[in-house]
Amino acid sequence: MNTYAFPGNIEDDILSIASQQIPYMRTAWFSGLMKENEAMLLQLIDQPDGRVMFFTASGTAAMDAVVSNYAAALGKAFVIDGGSFGHRWVELCAYHQLEADVMEVPFACDIDYDELEERVATSQPRVFLCQHHETSSGQKFNLERISAICRRHDVSLVVDVISTFLADELSMSRLGIDVCITSTQKGLNLPPGAALVFLSPKALQVNFLHKNYYLDFQDNLKNLERGQTPFSPATTLFMQLHERLRRDTALGVEKLIAQTAEKAHYFRTLCRKYGWEVPAQVPSNAITGFFVRQGYEHLCDKLQEKGIYIMPNAVKGFFRVSHMGVQSHADLDQLAAAIHQATQS
Ligand SMILES: *Cc1c(COP(=O)(O)O)cnc(C)c1O
Repeated sequence: MNTYAFPGNIEDDILSIASQQIPYMRTAWFSGLMKENEAMLLQLIDQPDGRVMFFTASGTAAMDAVVSNYAAALGKAFVIDGGSFGHRWVELCAYHQLEADVMEVPFACDIDYDELEERVATSQPRVFLCQHHETSSGQKFNLERISAICRRHDVSLVVDVISTFLADELSMSRLGIDVCITSTQKGLNLPPGAALVFLSPKALQVNFLHKNYYLDFQDNLKNLERGQTPFSPATTLFMQLHERLRRDTALGVEKLIAQTAEKAHYFRTLCRKYGWEVPAQVPSNAITGFFVRQGYEHLCDKLQEKGIYIMPNAVKGFFRVSHMGVQSHADLDQLAAAIHQATQS
């Protein structure tokens, strides 16, 4: 099998960590492992003195936790809705009855940052919710510009970096981001099941609300002091995370990102060769989203018969290939040839 859906192809030795008997987690050994996980994550995201909370859940739980514990504690939100993931922030604000002004951004387009600044000036929000990369289209947003706007208008910045962490450059401290969220099945190239919330030293000062029992920040932060989670963690997934982070920190984040960028650039040369348009104005390294103009009706099924997975989208003829995980030029050549062949017949 070759998968270009998240989390991508995972090395056999990391997969095998989760096929052993499961060690007990209320132990000094597991606490030590979690403390090392936290330290390595803070190093990779460049947020010294921050904290990382670990939830056994998918990425959306981290979004939910941030809105209910943090954003709702600050007040009015401003949301970038650039696709299905941006729209999830809008739905979460409505769900938690948090007032939110929304700026919609058309499919695969960048934000008009001058217009954004005008809207923020008028709206006067307390917290800004956005994605670094709208994974539904492949469009990456400019965090330098967003961060500058938030600084000028004194708005707390929350960024969903679920699909860009370890795929695109990101320094949480330099950009002055208060909260970042990610999950295991994207840039970390691990099975789904853990959501991570990074808090800056400034965010740690906030009086968090208590409206979400399982995802309560204060309770989770208290348990984190001893390297534990309040409830049963996905033990083997956190062991896989430890091995992944050990490798990523040994390689260095710049090299890791360069490797992902290289795969993305190579696949985009193949898209040009076969005439598949990449609509994103500023594409992320994490995925390539592209239009196939003909013969796409059963593309995913036809590829699946050959043991190949890519990601469809509600937009007709638009498909996404992830660049996370193990993939060689030969793999990408074979993938592109298989897509070409399937759309000809
Ligand atoms: C994958 C993803 C999520 C979370 O999705 P889950 O299915 O809950 O893990 C949220 N935001 C972005 C930008 C994503 O790419």
